Amino acid sequence: MCLLVFFTLKITESVEIPSKPNVVLIYGDDVGYGDLNVYGHPTSWTPNLDRMAREGLRMLQFYSAAPICSPSRASLMTGRLYPRTGVYRSPSSTNPTGLDVFSPGDGGGMLLSEITVAQVLKEHGYATGMVGKWHLGIGEQGEYLPHSRGFDSYFGLPFTQSACLSDINPVPPSPDHPGYCFLYRNSTIVSQPADIRDLDAVYVQEAKEFISNHQHEPFFFYFASHHTHRPQWASSRYQDTTRRGIFGDALAELDWSVGEILSHLESLSLDSQTLVVFMSDNGPELKDIETGGEQGPLKCGKGTTYEGGVREPAIFWWPGIIPSHSISESISSTLDLFTTIVSLTGATLPNDRATDGIDLTQLLTNDTTAIVRDRFFYYSGVYLMAVRYHHYKVHFWTMGSHCFPPYPDQDCWDTTTLSRKDPPLLFNLDHDPKERHSLNLTEYHSTMETILKITAEHNRSMTLGVPMIGKLYNNAKFFPCCSPSCKPRPLCCSCSNDIF
Ligand code: MG
Repeated sequence: MCLLVFFTLKITESVEIPSKPNVVLIYGDDVGYGDLNVYGHPTSWTPNLDRMAREGLRMLQFYSAAPICSPSRASLMTGRLYPRTGVYRSPSSTNPTGLDVFSPGDGGGMLLSEITVAQVLKEHGYATGMVGKWHLGIGEQGEYLPHSRGFDSYFGLPFTQSACLSDINPVPPSPDHPGYCFLYRNSTIVSQPADIRDLDAVYVQEAKEFISNHQHEPFFFYFASHHTHRPQWASSRYQDTTRRGIFGDALAELDWSVGEILSHLESLSLDSQTLVVFMSDNGPELKDIETGGEQGPLKCGKGTTYEGGVREPAIFWWPGIIPSHSISESISSTLDLFTTIVSLTGATLPNDRATDGIDLTQLLTNDTTAIVRDRFFYYSGVYLMAVRYHHYKVHFWTMGSHCFPPYPDQDCWDTTTLSRKDPPLLFNLDHDPKERHSLNLTEYHSTMETILKITAEHNRSMTLGVPMIGKLYNNAKFFPCCSPSCKPRPLCCSCSNDIF
């Protein structure tokens, strides 16, 4: 605690926040709490993210709203717990909680009644753009894509890049990797199958062009990287460049992208007018062993509602507004980005629906030591698995995921099925971040009473959206194809690859 106090600078005089500031949101994929050098990894090469943290604010208790990709992104875009947004599968015996992601054969996506932060900002006069992984559906006419959800422009792979590469080595497009890898510009496929070996450089160029083109008006840009989701890959410039192997190379390339964006903002003198945020969608992929990510001192990883599945690195950078070397110990979440961005930009929150975010403006602009959240709700699909209240966490249900033997903790394994905890498990996360030592409930009777009360209140407030994952699945009908009339799909889906 002494160290934190020493390095944390509390602003005592209010700062002048620019009217309609720009926002750049950089989202990593499966980057774990312990993966960045600035979060303690000894061999990661992340000088630009480390610089962001040094010059801005690093969060220690920051949560993604979900332990896997699609639902996490639904909450990021809407500021709402993802069961409200329809981004889950109808629970079944093979998927008892309904936690899942969209696949290319899904005809649906995040419910069209949901309002994204891009929609709100666009209506508020912002230019809005995105590159990268969307993972909230496509739709037969592209109605679920970013270009239809508030983004003026979109370029990228809407899904994970796993279909574009082999599991072991980067491979060029070939008959073995047919139409599964498709790049969109707005609602049109511009390359299929796409060669993504230099995709980072293209994304960065797109980002720079967007920022340059809109430098004289307020803008919101969402840079959703594919790194460091499996399979790991890096462009030739980054292969074999780090001590951490292919995962380290992929992470270094993501870090390079961050540095390019920061430098570009500075070169245009936009840095003091632009909030830049880095965070990740969910915890590390433990099944990849040494080529997967790192959860640091936390338990389990991707797919679970243990801390390693959802607690994430998060860095806020805004020179002149956020003091350098700041560290926040407050609970906070991707859910809070929507509310905070709306507040900072002077836009208006939708008033016809529940939102689950908290405004972080005070924390970012006035007092980085402020404690802004006292609770967090851990969902797996439609199951409320656990609740955090201050430094206590209660597990009502547990389940492993995305992890196999010989990983030493059996609680994390895929084969460890959904299990109700009766009595619940109670942990003190300040003393025991790895959730190893369950407390005696008799000694913590009043704490449990409080948590059960806020849990009951929360349950009364939760309204589920219609489950959209798998609802309209039809691979033959909905699989994206750049030449829709060709047969047999997707093998015949081949279009020029001239974007590089
Ligand atoms: Mg992910």
